[in-house]
Amino acid sequence: MWKRRLIFLCLVLLTALPCTHSDGAILADAPAAIPAETKYIALTFDDGPRKSTTTKLLDGLRERGASATFFLVGEQIEANRELVERMKAEGHQVGNHTWSHAKLEGADAGTVAWEIKKTNDLLVSILGEGTYWLRPPYGRIQEAQKKQITVPMVTWSIDSRDWESLNAAKAAQSVLQEAHPNAIILMHDIYPTSVEAALKIVDVLQKEGYVFVTVEELLALNGIKPQLGVIYRSGDPL
Ligand SMILES: [Zn+2]
Repeated sequence: MWKRRLIFLCLVLLTALPCTHSDGAILADAPAAIPAETKYIALTFDDGPRKSTTTKLLDGLRERGASATFFLVGEQIEANRELVERMKAEGHQVGNHTWSHAKLEGADAGTVAWEIKKTNDLLVSILGEGTYWLRPPYGRIQEAQKKQITVPMVTWSIDSRDWESLNAAKAAQSVLQEAHPNAIILMHDIYPTSVEAALKIVDVLQKEGYVFVTVEELLALNGIKPQLGVIYRSGDPL
């Protein structure tokens, strides 16, 4: 549903334009028309899908018109095919978090390749051809391993540490304290407290003028062309 997403972003632009262009002139150059006060931010969710929690999260994101990015553990995909299809249909970005949540750092090249390819192949079979970006488990990969990665990689600039506190208020608060435009926020959609925290974060930041986009959209909005084998931590130009 890229089209729907684009329409949404255009609407955001249209509503923000009068603030910066009081003469009402229509600008021909769309990128130049992005008002400085529009703040984009990306929520990312690792370790899912999990039927109960991911379903609730998708419902909440849909109600709020917020997009997110999901880095899926391959061995959990088959039992949750309809959730993965729903992610794509509702404008979210779907990415790869290896097959078995393997620690890539220190693993041999064959294991790294197998962990990534098995999940990638399943995503292609369900969602079709595409570039399924990688989040290495624990955000860790060795410099020498990067050259065998044939997709862009994503870590984060804000860590909710939601898995540690398992406390919705605490996780939301830690993210809200650090929130800044172009941030990439790390959360996990396998805990009910994380879902509650994420929706609270969306509610608060949308009131502050933030627009929730996928990581791919965040980079594109900042004019960044994602490179294969490169790690992106935020939407800020490197
Ligand atoms: Zn993980």
